[in-house]
Amino acid sequence: MKTYNIAAIPGDGIGTEVIAAGLEILEGLARRLGGFNFDVTHYPWDSEYYLKHGHYIPDGGLAEISKADAIFFGAVGSLKVADHISLWGLRLPICQGFDQYANVRPARVLPGVKSPLSNGQAIDWVIVRENSEGEYSGSGGRVHQGLPIEVATEVSTFTRVGVERIHRFAFELARSRPAKHLTLVTKSNAQRHGMVLWDEVFAEVARDYPDVRTNRELVDAVTTTMVLKPEKLDVIVATNLHADILSDLAAALSGSLGIAPTANLNPDRSFPSMFEPIHGSAFDITGKGIANPIATFWTAAMMLEHLGERKAGEHLMRAIEEVTASGLHTPDLGGTATTRQVTDAVLEVISR
Ligand code: ATP
Ligand code: MG
Repeated sequence: MKTYNIAAIPGDGIGTEVIAAGLEILEGLARRLGGFNFDVTHYPWDSEYYLKHGHYIPDGGLAEISKADAIFFGAVGSLKVADHISLWGLRLPICQGFDQYANVRPARVLPGVKSPLSNGQAIDWVIVRENSEGEYSGSGGRVHQGLPIEVATEVSTFTRVGVERIHRFAFELARSRPAKHLTLVTKSNAQRHGMVLWDEVFAEVARDYPDVRTNRELVDAVTTTMVLKPEKLDVIVATNLHADILSDLAAALSGSLGIAPTANLNPDRSFPSMFEPIHGSAFDITGKGIANPIATFWTAAMMLEHLGERKAGEHLMRAIEEVTASGLHTPDLGGTATTRQVTDAVLEVISR
């Protein structure tokens, strides 16, 4: 019997609701399939904790969760804490501290789900987001605050090591998929330093992957390709900021933010990887019991695959698809089902 140590950080808002549902699913899978189970440790690092203690992660907190096999994360964000403080207080220290440089965001229209596109069925993408540097490197500053001459800089940092490893990761992923196609997204017409480095390193790495077809799109142009010609795209690699925006678009085109999962991977496995839904804390629906748990179930399937439990991950994906196909949908997908009902339905399919 294999025991996986999971660090659960439910966080704020609907994060707590969807992580609770996700843990029920993981336990249901372990019961049904056998051979593995989970030892889950909960970390209460939410915005209330921050307001009380002045930090999200206590001293030694990162070292403690560094021993986990994976991190299962809900959402962070509160009306009482500025977004840049909560993001930099909890999520980014984990991504950066554990060098989770590859952020993987699959997008596909699940059976029974309606895409706003008439040809939404053609969406079958994986967006690979550089997750450790770029526009979110945190460098910059402000001078002359409040004066008419005030200046603020937000410095993007791109390192050759950082660019090369994300391209290599994206090529490997593209190679593993039937279409074997990779689109490089930059803005190298207007941003002539970092983005040109992205282009150059991409061309270098491409030589090692002659079996992967490639093309290049500017970030503004690729939004139109996503909407008008979704079949032209397979794997997309883009910077931290660009891929952040593109993946919200991808989530909306595939039906709802409530079904979009993400994995923050440390590909060389020297630290744990983190699995979370793309959506945030969604205070407008918190406490109503209607948060869509599908994004969290899907990311749980990605976590299982990462842990080496591929069969369990596939079993869970099939159960998710059977439930979405049945028309049992939460309000974000146009239905009236609750988080509880969707969770019970997936548990029921799993247990068969
Ligand atoms: P963040 O700043 O953390 O990215 P956000 O401001 O982008 O958060 P989200 O919390 O991600 O906002 O959600 C945007 C809207 O999408 C919410 O107000 C909510 O109505 C809807 N939404 C997001 N996630 C879900 C979900 N799991 N189920 C149902 N609706 C959702
Ligand atoms: Mg958002």
